[in-house]
Amino acid sequence: MNTTFNLDAITRDNVKKLVPYSSARDEFKGSEGIFLDANENPFNTGYNRYPDPHQKKLKEKIADVKGVEAKNIFLGNGSDEGIDLLFRAFCEPGKSNAIILPPTYGMYEVAANINDVTVNKALLNEDFQPDINLILNKTDHNTRLIFFCSPNNPTANSFQPELIEQVLEKFNGIVVIDEAYIDFSEQKSFVASINNYPNLVVLQTFSKAWGMASLRLGMAFADEKIINILSKIKPPYNISGVTQQLALEALKNPAKTKTCIAEIIAERTRLVAELSTLKSVRHIYPSDANFILVKVDNARLVYSYLANESIVVRDRSKVELCEGCIRITIGTKDENDSLLNALKNYKQT
Ligand SMILES: *Cc1c(COP(=O)(O)O)cnc(C)c1O
Repeated sequence: MNTTFNLDAITRDNVKKLVPYSSARDEFKGSEGIFLDANENPFNTGYNRYPDPHQKKLKEKIADVKGVEAKNIFLGNGSDEGIDLLFRAFCEPGKSNAIILPPTYGMYEVAANINDVTVNKALLNEDFQPDINLILNKTDHNTRLIFFCSPNNPTANSFQPELIEQVLEKFNGIVVIDEAYIDFSEQKSFVASINNYPNLVVLQTFSKAWGMASLRLGMAFADEKIINILSKIKPPYNISGVTQQLALEALKNPAKTKTCIAEIIAERTRLVAELSTLKSVRHIYPSDANFILVKVDNARLVYSYLANESIVVRDRSKVELCEGCIRITIGTKDENDSLLNALKNYKQT
């Protein structure tokens, strides 16, 4: 529990005072009629009408699948929109700060920089776990957001939930837990805890396990009060009608996604086993995600060699604590076979 958190105290004044844009679809709620209210083109193309700005049907379906209520869901144009809106709602440009735990996802720092918010870094420890004392020591009365990414990108491990809980209890700003990779992990999602912590925001996405990165659809789960603030400041039609429809269809067939996840996890296990027999591979970090972090003899050379073979991996060797590492996304069986073959033929020059 956190009984001292005060959302009002950390919400920006301009956001509190804001009168949100009222769209034509907001003012008239019916679905039948002659719509001459939104300056749309009347000829049916399949997408000539503005989409539902509240994504009601989609949220109800997500609520059902995730075991939460629709009022606890915010949908963004990718998780990236949710991240940006958190800065805009709670951080005063030029004054507030946010804490991130490197090595981690790059968008938190970029979003902070766009919004002129200082980033304080609390490096993960050698086991890639958060150092809670370090994090709490870095907070001050201007700290508004702390970002936990679990499973973490690029290290692929999950954080111990008790560590995150300590921060949820002690920190009176927003604790963001980015669960983009949770579907590839055995860990329990923090979505089940949104009613216990008024300062918790859990991010998930349709970009990874659901296989819909091109649609740009991210979810934020939180206390209704936080969701209302994010909804108030979002662009009115931030989720396209096509996206809402395709996501709804995917959610109606979760078995397909489950099969996909199982296959990726099986391939991850196989790839780890086979890679670990190769001479150029020094270490493979345990993965709870759809990628693996691999320490190799010379990351830059391995990266260029693979690129030359038309296999593109991510060179993370310049990232603190990831020295000598490349990050490899789990592909299809054929793609993984090509990667393994290439690496078997790799001779260090
Ligand atoms: C891939 C990824 C996302 C997804 O972002 P979208 O904007 O939803 O595509 C979010 N967080 C992390 C850590 C990621 O690696």
